[in-house]
Amino acid sequence: MRNAFGAILLVLLAALPVTAQTPRRHTAVLIVTDGFRWQELFGGADAALNNAEYGGVEDTTALRRSFLVGDPEANRLALMPFMWKVVAREGQIYGNRDLGSTAVVTNGYNFSYPGYNEMLTGTADPNIDRNDYGPNPNTTVFEWLAGQPGFQGKVAAFGTWDAFAPIFNQDRAPMWVRAGWDLPYPGDTASRRVLLDSLYATTTRVWSEMPYDGFMQAVVMEYVETERPEVLYIGYGETDEWAHEGRYDQYLASAHRVDGFIRDLWNAMQAMPEYAGRTTFIITTDHGRGSGLKAWRNHGAKVDGAEYIWMAVMGPDIPALGVRQDVPTVTQSQIAATVAAGVGVDWVAASGAAAALPVFRSR
Ligand SMILES: [Zn+2]
Repeated sequence: MRNAFGAILLVLLAALPVTAQTPRRHTAVLIVTDGFRWQELFGGADAALNNAEYGGVEDTTALRRSFLVGDPEANRLALMPFMWKVVAREGQIYGNRDLGSTAVVTNGYNFSYPGYNEMLTGTADPNIDRNDYGPNPNTTVFEWLAGQPGFQGKVAAFGTWDAFAPIFNQDRAPMWVRAGWDLPYPGDTASRRVLLDSLYATTTRVWSEMPYDGFMQAVVMEYVETERPEVLYIGYGETDEWAHEGRYDQYLASAHRVDGFIRDLWNAMQAMPEYAGRTTFIITTDHGRGSGLKAWRNHGAKVDGAEYIWMAVMGPDIPALGVRQDVPTVTQSQIAATVAAGVGVDWVAASGAAAALPVFRSR
């Protein structure tokens, strides 16, 4: 009897999942909302653009009620409540030029592919000079991590813009990449995944290059809940599209929704034991835009101020210093090593890329 009981106990012990005995590494999530300006992040909506002439606004009363509710601090809180209630209190935000903090793109082009390449590899590449450049010849920190021991199957990238497939070099990189209107879960039979595929396949395409941010958000939430990635990229695209179309109301509404997506993902991950207290979020944009009544729509090498961006970070090893003031300039190149540092890996030593943002306490 005693021996039989002992044998059963041994069998039960052997069946315990290995993960219960192995301490988990940290997780890093890089989140980008394309072409969202530092001006709105720190100052809220610009009342000068709340009109049909310069802002293409359909309902100025609705915009005022939603996003022009008081002084700039009240307006930014209305626009991005999670950023200001949580990230600004528990993390750090760079790029408020009015307070002596500059975050800058160094590739000189100030548009998307060069910016994503700079932030994902840690080095600006002057050869990448157009958005249809094709497969990235450089290795992103995501591709590299995906090939490191222990990270197989744990690295994933989601982007609404179809160019994320070449930017991450989908064909070469040993990681999960989903971009553009490609079906997120082709051939899968799980009911939620079938529904998502069907929405991607049957919805009218306002933009041929990218689905709605909200669709991709549902795909990302499904993936995180079921696959538990450890290094994750999420790229939202609507902020840039609406700005180019001159729709300030939609640009603001998109930024507000992205703030909610980030909140939902953070809260969902903090509710999962694997992620709680181990997860670092890095939130940024790929380029700035012009300023004033007309140039806010545009960006590029010849648009004044389009090199200025912002970066927000929050995680267990990052002191809560809030909005950084009077600090040395930080660059877009520093993001790649910051992602790697979030999971305790040194990308600078591996690649010669720019140093991580100086945000981590030593651990
Ligand atoms: Zn753009």
